[in-house]
Amino acid sequence: TKQQPVLESSTIIRLQCLTHLTDYLPVPPLQLQAHTNPLDHNPYFHPISGFYLSPTDVILRNILFDLHTSSNNNYTSGGQLELAAYHRAGPRQHIYFDPATGHVRAAIVTCGGLCPGMNTVIRELVVGLWELYGVREIFGIKAGYRGFYSDQVDDHLPLNPRMVHDLHKRGGTMLETSRGGFDLHQIVNAIQDRGYNQVYIIGGDGTMRGAVKIFDEIKLRKLNIAVAGIPKTVDNDVGIIDRSFGFQTAVEMAQQAISAAHVEAESAVNGIGLVKLMGRSTGHIALHATLSSRDVDCCLIPEMEFYLEGKGGLFEFLESRLKENGHAVVVVAEGAGQNLIPRTEEQIQDKDESGNPVFLDVGGWLKSELKKWWARDHPKELFTVKYIDPTYMIRAVPANATDNLYCTLLAHAAIHGAMAGYTGFVCGPINGNYGYIPVQEVAEAKNVVDTNDHKWAWVRSVTNQPDFART
Ligand code: ATP
Ligand code: MG
Repeated sequence: TKQQPVLESSTIIRLQCLTHLTDYLPVPPLQLQAHTNPLDHNPYFHPISGFYLSPTDVILRNILFDLHTSSNNNYTSGGQLELAAYHRAGPRQHIYFDPATGHVRAAIVTCGGLCPGMNTVIRELVVGLWELYGVREIFGIKAGYRGFYSDQVDDHLPLNPRMVHDLHKRGGTMLETSRGGFDLHQIVNAIQDRGYNQVYIIGGDGTMRGAVKIFDEIKLRKLNIAVAGIPKTVDNDVGIIDRSFGFQTAVEMAQQAISAAHVEAESAVNGIGLVKLMGRSTGHIALHATLSSRDVDCCLIPEMEFYLEGKGGLFEFLESRLKENGHAVVVVAEGAGQNLIPRTEEQIQDKDESGNPVFLDVGGWLKSELKKWWARDHPKELFTVKYIDPTYMIRAVPANATDNLYCTLLAHAAIHGAMAGYTGFVCGPINGNYGYIPVQEVAEAKNVVDTNDHKWAWVRSVTNQPDFART
């Protein structure tokens, strides 16, 4: 640090522009005037300087530097340093929607699979809108996107703080969720007909791709409706943001399953404990649970190919572990080894209601392969595989303390953004600070496990498992 590093003059800060309702609404300027934030008069807040954020408050992403070479990974081929910046999430002094005139009508929808914390986000959206901004018309859309246009009368459920007060202690989603049922025109028609002007969408990658389409259609129709996304994925596979809600709860629960598998394996002769964890395209849960549990002998994730037979394969490795310790624990992420499992033509074509490929049960397949291998190579020796699939147990639990707090901050960030008139955004932490990200960007970005990263090297040093690189 003898030398003070300086940002070169060629540094470019690329602001990831958010859309504001005033960007496309063809209304006379008077109607677009800003209103004073009611937090000014909220007895619990004493807005001091710095309380409100302005559009110039940003977070820089990818800010790792080497002070010696003053280099980082974001240099363009022309030698310019390019840093992506995102608007910070938080209350704005002037807001676009005026709650005093009763002009806000909000809808909340949850889609995709369950994830710990969904109920907390719903609760905090309702309580936050009600208490912070005085909104009184808040509706929960039942059973995912299809609930917008279903003909069930109670599919637009009026919500108030009393109805949701203990929701953070319950797993699941009180609004129910579903896959499929995405009919863009019917959804936007329903939003328009019902007079919603703020739509909060809680869901995973598929849901966010749907949110992009809804946002685009709303812009096309020039509607005065803010669309805010809250990324929900227990797998932590969303890019840009630091982590997604429910992930830490999932890792904690996954550890309990690993402990049980370990006990089962230890208590058997040549016992193998096999645990399948969530992670269709990414192995974050398997990786984090392996690192924190230390009971795992081998961790298999979708980002890494593996094989069973021959030198350096899984069977050879497990054979040596059984010889050494008498037991072994294997963790496999849902999406690992999908290319190894034989599929019928029907299974190749099979898709779920949302059009996602159907994953075959890698745990069940592995269990049967392990048994066949042992019976073939050691017909006279005892052997047991105890297979645990805790998926639905993990997804259904309430969020832990950390995730509950995180969900609260996410919900508040979404509310402040929508009230300020931003639209087509997703909120989430970037380098520890909450920011607004264009929904399009989140729908495309993916967070995968980097098998060249120190974290994966650490897994390999903890487990001493093979690298499955065929030589
Ligand atoms: P999970 O984390 O559980 O996978 P997800 O949001 O990805 O959550 P999906 O079942 O894939 O779950 O999608 C949820 C909703 O989003 C469904 O209503 C589905 O029809 C809709 N959806 C998925 N992909 C798209 C897409 N490309 N365009 C529009 N809507 C989509
Ligand atoms: Mg998905």
